[in-house]
Amino acid sequence: MAENLDILIVGAGPGGMAAGIMAREAGRSYLILEKGSNPMQGIIDTYPKGKKVYPTIPKSYTEPFPVDEVRPPDSRVPVEAYIDQARAVAEDLDLNIHYNEEFKAIEGRYPDYLVKTSSGTYLTRNILLAFGSNIPNDLGIYGEAKTVARKIENGEDYIGINVLVIGGGNAAADVAASLSRIKREAEDDTSVYWAHIKEKFEINKDTARDLGEEMLLGGHIKILQRAVPKIGEVDADGIDRLYIHQTSGRAMGNDLYLYQGMSFPMKNVIACIGHHGPSAIFDALNLQQITCTGAICKIAKEGERLLMLSHHLETSQKGIFAIGGAISPSHMEIGSDGIIKEKRHSNLIYTAVLDAKIVMDHLLSS
Ligand SMILES: Cc1cc2nc3c(=O)[nH]c(=O)nc-3n(C[C@H](O)[C@H](O)[C@H](O)COP(=O)(O)OP(=O)(O)OC[C@H]3O[C@@H](n4cnc5c(N)ncnc54)[C@H](O)[C@@H]3O)c2cc1C
Repeated sequence: MAENLDILIVGAGPGGMAAGIMAREAGRSYLILEKGSNPMQGIIDTYPKGKKVYPTIPKSYTEPFPVDEVRPPDSRVPVEAYIDQARAVAEDLDLNIHYNEEFKAIEGRYPDYLVKTSSGTYLTRNILLAFGSNIPNDLGIYGEAKTVARKIENGEDYIGINVLVIGGGNAAADVAASLSRIKREAEDDTSVYWAHIKEKFEINKDTARDLGEEMLLGGHIKILQRAVPKIGEVDADGIDRLYIHQTSGRAMGNDLYLYQGMSFPMKNVIACIGHHGPSAIFDALNLQQITCTGAICKIAKEGERLLMLSHHLETSQKGIFAIGGAISPSHMEIGSDGIIKEKRHSNLIYTAVLDAKIVMDHLLSS
């Protein structure tokens, strides 16, 4: 067992690294556990190759970017350059990160928590859960699980085929723009169909600028609004296909409906329809969550479970904190007046880093 730590941080993403940097500067004993073999492994695992990284600050926030070392540069660098920056920071500051070590469980009570990992046990006073959230949502379409991709593994694989990207947010926009660029550069005439179940797409300014640029440069992006994925079928060649309906069905009488739609091989489909929070992990750790009902949740869906946090992002267990992607897109905050309300939490590098600062400022002042 290692020495008694002030704080054990789970995850070397932007949030976990920022917390480690602050702990190091304050001379506190800390350890960052990372299950992957790199800093920012979560970003490596989820971003399309060459995707530009933005230091986006949501409008409602006024604080400047809190920890410069993990701030993406203003020059909109590709993700690979941002990862290099993180590697250099980890090396130059000699951050105490254990790579390829996975967090498993917590035992004991504050201030003597025992953290069990894939290869050891650590004694620590505080724990920061900064493990992000990368559990992709399902479309709920028969047959999707085996064949529908959630991100681009290798963009070149999509040259020469019509691709369907599903989702109305930034991740889908990034994937559509990246694929379009790869096709355009390869002088490939096939298209990227970008479908969303609603009429309105919700992407931020930076992502929209990239997408607009790509379209103006002659990208092959075709937008499908109100496109509803329907049950898959198998075609004559035995290939699983996904239907999307672009119009609501017109009643033809006698229980007959007329739809206009398109059908894609499922292997040509990339579904970027969001991620769900690590509710099961919070359960296993005995951290209190609230089940959403229409009356208390505006952002989360009815029935979803949201982690309960103080305004210092402390969970129901003293000394255990949760930040960043792990608590997005919303959590329950117990205000200083004792009133519990749902709090929106944008899943951005800035918000993860700001969370780390909130927790560390609180710990360092107590
Ligand atoms: C395609 C895409 C594009 C995006 N573009 C932008 C952008 O341009 N600008 C922006 O601000 N945001 C962007 N985001 C969002 C941003 O990447 C996230 O908000 C941010 O990475 C969240 O940081 P985090 O530290 O909370 O979690 P993560 O970055 O997910 O880091 C969590 C880390 O914890 C590790 N981990 C997980 N479980 C364990 C375990 N059990 N034990 C040990 N380690 C574990 C993971 O390997 C990972 O490295 C984008 C997201 C996506 C998907």
